[in-house]
Amino acid sequence: MTGAGTPIPVMIDVDGLDALIAALAAEGREVLGPVRRDGALVFEPIGAAGELPRGWVDEQSGGHYRLKKEGTAFFGATNGPQGIKRILHTPHQRLWRTEGSGDATEIIPEPLDDTRRAVIGARACDLAAMAVQDRVLMEGTYGDPHYAARRGSLFVVAVNCTRAADTCFCASMNTGPKATAGYDIALTELEGGRFLAVSGSDAGAAMLSGLPSAPASAAEEAQAEEAIEGARDQQRRIDTDGLPQILKTRPDHPRWSEVASRCLNCANCTMVCPTCFCTTVEEVSSLEGPETERVARWASCFTVDFSHIHGGAVRAGAKSRYRQWLTHKLGTWVDQFGELGCVGCGRCISWCPVGIDITEEAAALRREEG
Ligand code: SF4
Ligand code: SF4
Repeated sequence: MTGAGTPIPVMIDVDGLDALIAALAAEGREVLGPVRRDGALVFEPIGAAGELPRGWVDEQSGGHYRLKKEGTAFFGATNGPQGIKRILHTPHQRLWRTEGSGDATEIIPEPLDDTRRAVIGARACDLAAMAVQDRVLMEGTYGDPHYAARRGSLFVVAVNCTRAADTCFCASMNTGPKATAGYDIALTELEGGRFLAVSGSDAGAAMLSGLPSAPASAAEEAQAEEAIEGARDQQRRIDTDGLPQILKTRPDHPRWSEVASRCLNCANCTMVCPTCFCTTVEEVSSLEGPETERVARWASCFTVDFSHIHGGAVRAGAKSRYRQWLTHKLGTWVDQFGELGCVGCGRCISWCPVGIDITEEAAALRREEG
C-alpha cells in the first residue's frame, strides 16, 4: 500500500457498502467478511452487506464467547476466534507433492495462490498483528512465498471499533481501537447504517472515489471519534511498564506453577492468537499409492513435540511451556522484534477452555509474591 495523501473522510450508507462489495468483486476479488457460523463470527465470502451480522454483538470473558442479538449495527460484534491471519497464513499449506515413483519421481512445487481477495471488517488489533506477520513471513531471511502472494493481493477494509468486548485491551498495547495503518479503506460505523470512510492507500482512494458518497461533516467526524473513544474507555487495561524485564527475571515465580496446574496444554491460545506464526513441516504419504506431499501446518509451543530435540523435549511440562509462551509474547519478543508480541485482541482469554487470562497472569507475575 502506498500513501494516499491526506485522506478526506466521506460518508457512505448501506447502498454504498453494497457498492463497495460489488466493486471489489468486479475487480475479480473474493470478498470476505464476518458472518455468523456455528455461534461465532468467521470470515467467509460475502456478496452483499445483508450477509454481515447486523444486530449481533459478542459477549466475551475468560473461557466464554457468545453472540447475542443487540442493536442494529453491522459491525457491533468485535473479534471472533479467527483473525485475518487465517486468510494469509493458512493453518495448512502444501509445499510440494510428488508424482511418479522410483527414478521417475518428480517433485511438483505447490503453485502460489493467485486468488485476489478483499477482507471487510479487519480490526485495528488484527492489522497490527498482520504487520508482525509481514515482518516474520516476508521480511526475514527465509520468507514464505505463499504468504507473500496472498498478502500482496489483499485489499483491506478496516472497521474501527466503536464497541469493545470485556476481553479487549488493544488500547494498552497501542494497537487500537482505531486503525492507523495497514488498510486501504477504514470505516467507522455511525448510527443508522452510516459509515465514515477514509482511504489509506491509492487503491483505497480510487475505490472510494467510485462509490456513492457525500462529504463528511465536522459533526460526523466528531461523532466517529467519540464512538472510537467510547470503545477505548470500555476496555480493560494491562500494565506493560517494565513487563519484559519482570518476566525475564522471574523464571521461578510461584505463579508459573499455579497457572500450570490449570493449563490443559490444549494450544487453543496459540491457535487463535493473531501474532503466533510458528509452523511445523510434515511429509504425508498416501495409503493407496506412492504419492507424497510436504505440508506446513500451524505449530504451538504448548505441544511436547515443539521443543523436541535429540534426547527428548526441552519443555516437558505445562509450567515451562506456559512460561515460554508468555515470556516470549510479553518479554523476549521485544529483543527479537523491538515491540511486544501481543496486540491485545483478547482471543486467548475467551478461547482458553479454563479461562486463563493473560492480563491477570501478567499482573500476578508483576507482584513479587504471585
Ligand atoms: S496473546 Fe492473546 S490477547 Fe495477545 S494478541 Fe495473542 S491472542 Fe490476542
Ligand atoms: S493457557 Fe488455556 S488455551 Fe492456552 S494451552 Fe493452556 S488451557 Fe489451552
